[in-house]
Amino acid sequence: MYKCCKILKHGLCFFNDILTSCCFSPVDQIDGQVPPLIYDNYNGQIISKDDLFERINKHVSLFKKGSCPKECYSCYHIEEQDWDDEEYIDYITITHFSICNADCIYCTNNHELYERTNNTYKILPVLKSFKEQGIIKKGCELHIGGGEFTIYHECDELLDLFAVNNYARVFVPTNAIKYSEKLFQAMDKATTYIIVSLDCGCKKTFYKIKRVNAFDRVINSLKKYAATEKSRDAIRLKYIIIPTYNDNISEFKKFLKIAKNLGVRNLIIDIDARYSRVTNYKIDNYFINLAQEMNNIALKQNFITEFYSFYFQNTNDKQIEKDNPFIKLKKKIHFKYFDKDIKELYKHHRYGAKRFKY
Ligand code: SF4
Ligand code: SF4
Repeated sequence: MYKCCKILKHGLCFFNDILTSCCFSPVDQIDGQVPPLIYDNYNGQIISKDDLFERINKHVSLFKKGSCPKECYSCYHIEEQDWDDEEYIDYITITHFSICNADCIYCTNNHELYERTNNTYKILPVLKSFKEQGIIKKGCELHIGGGEFTIYHECDELLDLFAVNNYARVFVPTNAIKYSEKLFQAMDKATTYIIVSLDCGCKKTFYKIKRVNAFDRVINSLKKYAATEKSRDAIRLKYIIIPTYNDNISEFKKFLKIAKNLGVRNLIIDIDARYSRVTNYKIDNYFINLAQEMNNIALKQNFITEFYSFYFQNTNDKQIEKDNPFIKLKKKIHFKYFDKDIKELYKHHRYGAKRFKY
């Protein structure tokens, strides 16, 4: 028995210039350090099984000695159990590209890196080699990060390698501007799920948030993705609360109407990650109450909801009083939280969408 982390032992995350164990680290949120590093200056080099696990086991050995890599301090993924010493990978994240056909106001992706990350290394040969070496376990999880997967040049081949043949459970965030038939097949025939952050219920708000005129295209793609019962069930429609853009119940009700018309039942309610960071994770009660109110409305309409932000999860079980003063006064306090720093946050403009055709 010792304390360790499943992802550290069996996970890989591909960034555009490094290979790490995971894509998150509690330390990262404090002083900008990356997660446990497996390979620095990584550009798609083919790695042997022995080399890969020698690198991974250096981190694991720290846990075995009762310590841990500094990047893992206080991570909630650490748990104590009887860990085996088997060498395999069953949790992969791909986030080495940032090409995208939208320009969301809240995007944390650095589109200024477009030139570099669109010409990023090919990941397919690496993953094929890992599969051939017996490194990647069948039934593993493949999480796509980065930019918009449907326009990434290795998208179809990756779906063939892992999704359509049901080798992995695949999780794909997509803005749904471009419809992918291959993705639909994977959703319909295998265990592939998509997460679409619609964040609105109308064209006008969509444009304000996504900064591309593609609302109708997204709805059309969603109709196709929702064509069968299985594929419909593989859709998570997400509403990210973005201060002053969509933080109101009437927009959310329009969003629910769209979900209902599509027959999509699975929803995610979240808050803009950049807002959380700027406020040092002290989320204003206004948003906590708003998320709770949205959740109640959705549940009454028989939707299945999830809170992505664990800050909401932590507060989720708190009883929200019926006569909550925040809800009553929400119009009055609407701009209170929107201080100078946060205004600056939303002024920040990247040029992602201007460069891409969709
Ligand atoms: S403990 Fe946390 S930071 Fe460390 S590898 Fe696991 S998930 Fe990543
Ligand atoms: S869809 Fe939006 S959030 Fe996602 S990568 Fe593109 S611009 Fe960023």
